[in-house]
Amino acid sequence: MTAPLDVLVVGAGPTGLALATQLRTYGTTFQIVDRSLDRVHESRALAIQPRTLEALAPFGVTDELVGRGNPAMQLRMHLPKRVVRMPLFDIGLADTAYPFVLFLSQAETESVLSEHLRGQDVDVERGTEVVRLERTGSSVSCRLRRGDGTEKTVEARYVVGCDGAHSTVRAQAGIGFEGYAYPQTFLLADLEVDGLESGAVHAYMTGAGMLLFFPLGTPATWRMLAMRPPGAPDTKLNLGLLQEITDRYTSDRLALRDPVWMTDFRLHNRGAARYRSGPFFLAGDAAHIHSPAGAQGMNTGIQDALNLGWKLALVCQGRAPEELLETYEAERAPVARNVLRFTDRAFTIGTSSNPVIRFARTRLAPRLAPLALRANGPRGRVFRTVSELGIHYRRSPATTVGPRPPRRGPRPGDRLPDLPRGLQARTAGPGWHLLLSGPPAIWSDERLAAALCGRDDMISVHRLGAESPWPTAVHGLVRPDGYFGYVAAGTHLEGLRDYLDRWLPARQS
Ligand SMILES: Cc1cc2nc3c(=O)[nH]c(=O)nc-3n(C[C@H](O)[C@H](O)[C@H](O)COP(=O)(O)OP(=O)(O)OC[C@H]3O[C@@H](n4cnc5c(N)ncnc54)[C@H](O)[C@@H]3O)c2cc1C
Repeated sequence: MTAPLDVLVVGAGPTGLALATQLRTYGTTFQIVDRSLDRVHESRALAIQPRTLEALAPFGVTDELVGRGNPAMQLRMHLPKRVVRMPLFDIGLADTAYPFVLFLSQAETESVLSEHLRGQDVDVERGTEVVRLERTGSSVSCRLRRGDGTEKTVEARYVVGCDGAHSTVRAQAGIGFEGYAYPQTFLLADLEVDGLESGAVHAYMTGAGMLLFFPLGTPATWRMLAMRPPGAPDTKLNLGLLQEITDRYTSDRLALRDPVWMTDFRLHNRGAARYRSGPFFLAGDAAHIHSPAGAQGMNTGIQDALNLGWKLALVCQGRAPEELLETYEAERAPVARNVLRFTDRAFTIGTSSNPVIRFARTRLAPRLAPLALRANGPRGRVFRTVSELGIHYRRSPATTVGPRPPRRGPRPGDRLPDLPRGLQARTAGPGWHLLLSGPPAIWSDERLAAALCGRDDMISVHRLGAESPWPTAVHGLVRPDGYFGYVAAGTHLEGLRDYLDRWLPARQS
């Protein structure tokens, strides 16, 4: 009998592809299957946030994404009599190499990830659907059905459902998906628009709702998103209807043409009751779906994957305790809950027909937003949230505050900033990274050897000297996903050793 796979990845959307990318780096044995015969060719998610670009950079795909995409920095809010011009991101992003939203169609994002995997000798097994999952002792028996109707079974220690909103893995694991559907219908099109200033996001705010244009680039210059206005003809979606709706929302003379994709859909706000049940995990749309407000969906899924992959890899290699897997839900479920809350609020403000909210949307928001955004504090907070750079795991069980933590600089649970610039690139290799600040000579080789003994193959040590996020002698341990697990001041490493004994025990020789 063949040994079970470490992991079966179900679904090769952006979440599954990101997970496979990380598992490959650690040499985990896995298979990635998708029931569709080809990857997505529609644009769908159109924006990649700064944190996702950072998180994918260690795998060498971010330059390609940025090269294919369209960084946008400006927002135009169109009101009946004037246009409010606002920067999209211009503050609070000094610590990232990617201070912009990258507009790129999901088809392109998936293409870049798939090509990268192919270069690593990983092929998605397409036309292969997971139909049944059964726990058998210490593994899962996974029944797969191919397009020609033939079936086969593979055994895997863990199964990750990256299989989207209608997740089979979620259903087979008996995990609920609670929430609601919004009543409105949305219209979406990738097309050409004459009369729009290029390179900016345009929001037309009206009493009836919002009409948005995003600078997509490929496969068309613009992505249009609008709510079907109450009373609009319930006709089949076509260019004429989109033009009619555009004319209704704006008196600008915008001419729509050459659509390459049009669809209408309803939105939901739902979250999985659990992210794990025994050997089954959920990530991406299988765990949370919400409105596209703020362009968080695909980004949250990719970051779910990159939170989970290294944990599965280390546990499967016997290098980390099973308990590490419990931290996946503890860290990612609160992130998704915030996204569900934030997108619900934004959706309500953008679409409600309640007279008070309509007034706020069309009269107050355009006046207050520039004022609020003039103050650096609120503006920085908004940008940190939307860019996902503000995500932290400070309350995670895998985060420990060491003795006398520094008052300034990153705290345990925070992401490693790219400040000074290039710090993230220096620490991009797989595994853990121990950052030592202060004069390099204060770090004794003997003490380091004692703390790292039996796991030095998994930890790279960086004596940063002046090139450090902290001004004084501090040691900080960065996890494989770029977040600090442990930070302490001083050169005594006993606390670090305790942390490592728990999460990365020394190898038994
Ligand atoms: C019309 C539309 C517009 C969107 N617009 C935006 C947007 O503007 N911004 C944004 O952030 N997000 C948007 N989204 C959402 C975004 O596309 C998702 O958040 C993203 O695709 C989630 O990625 P995922 O990998 O988790 O799931 P998916 O992309 O849904 O991938 C799941 C994969 O699993 C496969 N699969 C399913 N069941 C099985 C099975 N039993 N066996 C094997 N394979 C299986 C499917 O074939 C699919 O390839 C949009 C979605 C749609 C449909």
